[in-house]
Amino acid sequence: MSLSILDLFEFLKIDTTSAKGKGEEGAKFLLDYMREKDINSELLKGKSKNPYVYGEINVGSKETLLIYNHYDVQPVEPLDKWNSDPFTPTEKEGKIFARGVADDKGTLMMRLQTIIELVKEKKLKINIKFIYEGEEEIGSPNIVDFLEKYKDTLKADYLLWEGSGKGSDGSPEIVLGVKGLLYVELRYRTTKDLHSMYAPIIENPVWKIIYFLRDLRSPNGKVNLEGFYSKVKRLSEEEIKYLKGNKSEMENALGQKIQSNFIEKLIEEPTCNIDGIQSGYTGEGSKTVIPSYVIVKIDFRLVPEQDPNEVLRSLEKKAEAEGIEVIPLGRVKPYRTSIESKIARELISSAKDVYGINPVVLPNSPGTGPMQSFASILGIRQIADGIGVDYAGSNIHSFNENIYKEDYFLASNWMKEFVAKLSVGIT
Ligand SMILES: [Zn+2]
Repeated sequence: MSLSILDLFEFLKIDTTSAKGKGEEGAKFLLDYMREKDINSELLKGKSKNPYVYGEINVGSKETLLIYNHYDVQPVEPLDKWNSDPFTPTEKEGKIFARGVADDKGTLMMRLQTIIELVKEKKLKINIKFIYEGEEEIGSPNIVDFLEKYKDTLKADYLLWEGSGKGSDGSPEIVLGVKGLLYVELRYRTTKDLHSMYAPIIENPVWKIIYFLRDLRSPNGKVNLEGFYSKVKRLSEEEIKYLKGNKSEMENALGQKIQSNFIEKLIEEPTCNIDGIQSGYTGEGSKTVIPSYVIVKIDFRLVPEQDPNEVLRSLEKKAEAEGIEVIPLGRVKPYRTSIESKIARELISSAKDVYGINPVVLPNSPGTGPMQSFASILGIRQIADGIGVDYAGSNIHSFNENIYKEDYFLASNWMKEFVAKLSVGIT
């Protein structure tokens, strides 16, 4: 193995905190690094401040693997909680500490160095495209626009997502999709606040909203919207086979007791969650008032093949009947690659070879991301996540972010195996 930890350290030293407007220096570093290694590379400008770094290696194969990573990082604060400077990579007890080492600079560099090595060894049999984003940590606000603009450049058959390393039990983790999201604000208002003595003759907006919300979701979590469950795709037996979750570890992490089938529920259950309610008087002492407005924020986490636009229409219909206004604030479609797809099969099989155990495979993450945009705009049907350098204790987004140095090399072996297996049978 000749992966260079020193090169990784040089990359980690650069502050690429996108929330603070930083990142350009990181993009420049990557561009120089790739050009030095004879990879055709350029900076692609979208609407974002930080450029996208693009690189390609064409070996004349009929198929192409697109590798997505991001070079920006989360803010490091609170700085006094770090045991070492976040931008001075530090080795201690087999671990490397630095901001971004787990999310996502470590995985980016490990994959890049592995591919460079495969080229050197003349073992690369599939075309590779690299795309590195510089504003993932601020929510990728310009990604759809960017994909539209460069959809021909980014054309590929497979897409490897930013990286998923080892789960809480130490097994390598593969993720084949994401949940979708519909975020809305509900508003109900009357003309003005009134004395509560008028309560016998005036409708209180807070009661109005409470009855509405009570009807929207039953205590067992079922969402009462027309057509809400009609497109929900249940997990297959094969998908359930690779699901694994440790209940007591999850309970420790959440600080609460949970039910035993929690992992299935996290993956395949759509939800209606109240994020906040604001209305009336909650200050010191008492005030007898009928408030004139209520605002409620709600998020629906959606599963494949639910459509946030259809859920929104259904919600609007129900709310309008009550005179409640619905303001959509966010819409992301869910996405799932089949566990029977080639990318999933080769990720699973290469993980078994390298780690000697079955990987955990999540048909979709319980969280949300823009995978569906990549699928629909670039026309890529096989998108999967895996081959990351992180583990459950990596403290992603937190202080003392770290990885095991050993995992950097193990993940590189996984990458090599995966790329080799994915190339088999391409004519
Ligand atoms: Zn992150």
